[in-house]
Amino acid sequence: MKCRFRCNCGKVFDGNENTQTCPACGSMLDTGNCGAIQVYRQGNFMGMAVGMGIYIDDQPYGHIANKGSVRVVVPYGTHKIHMTHTSTRTCNDPLITVTPQAPVAFVKAHFADMGFSIKIDPANPSDMPPM
Ligand SMILES: [Zn+2]
Repeated sequence: MKCRFRCNCGKVFDGNENTQTCPACGSMLDTGNCGAIQVYRQGNFMGMAVGMGIYIDDQPYGHIANKGSVRVVVPYGTHKIHMTHTSTRTCNDPLITVTPQAPVAFVKAHFADMGFSIKIDPANPSDMPPM
């Protein structure tokens, strides 16, 4: 399973469930109390070639391609998700909670308001594309 990590040093990188260290600074990742938020960018004709930026708790977590999906490792708790696309900065910024009982949350993002905003909705595992 491909996962995205963010080290305390600020490095954002993709790995998998066996990833233990940051490739930038070599620190051990503290993933003992972590779940994940899987973000799916629904296919859309707008801005297909340009990635959507992902922000969790105001920290950048890289980009996601059109129709792309990424599983971001986050600590248990409630997190604010924000997404941007070129000049589109308006987003509904939902709060998503992951817990030991429900360690993976699913959301899907799409354009709204004729492309002037991005809406992120809760989703089900069956909404996700194959990884
Ligand atoms: Zn690091």
